[in-house]
Amino acid sequence: MKYTESFKIPFKGLEIGQHEFEFNISNKFFDLYKDSNLELSSGELKCTVMLDKKSNLLTLDIDIDGYVDAICDRCLDSFQLPIESTSTIYIKIGGNVDEQNDELIVLSEDDSEFNIADYLYECICLELPIRKVHDELTTSKTKCNKEMLKKIKQLSTKNEIKNVNETDARWDKLKNLNINN
Ligand SMILES: [Zn+2]
Repeated sequence: MKYTESFKIPFKGLEIGQHEFEFNISNKFFDLYKDSNLELSSGELKCTVMLDKKSNLLTLDIDIDGYVDAICDRCLDSFQLPIESTSTIYIKIGGNVDEQNDELIVLSEDDSEFNIADYLYECICLELPIRKVHDELTTSKTKCNKEMLKKIKQLSTKNEIKNVNETDARWDKLKNLNINN
């Protein structure tokens, strides 16, 4: 069986009622999408799908829990970024494709399964914060690499001094102007 096929939900053969599916997301999963997001390449997440089947409507309650590996924007060390996501999608069987939106997927009567991999990937991407950091603590309790923070601070202080000097040079020119004229 191809790896992507392990994310298929074969809804046609299911009885009316509730069904539970579990999917494990690991590095292999992120390999499938390695061209679409370079930042996201590894992690470990567990996904539970509660499927409620009615004659031509499926409701999927999706829970994703785990972590992805990220680079800390503050200290540049890699760390495990926790991800938690809950969402619901609806699958309508035999409807008008125009009705389709972010939460509603329309499939034809001939379809017998739904591959949830793309949707799970999207959910994980949506949970990624713009700023990825161990934490924002400034105390010794921070999980950031303290040595690195120190070095970065030293560097930025040096740059600040440089900037001040550059500004001074510009001010010097102004000082030469005789403002009394
Ligand atoms: Zn950090």
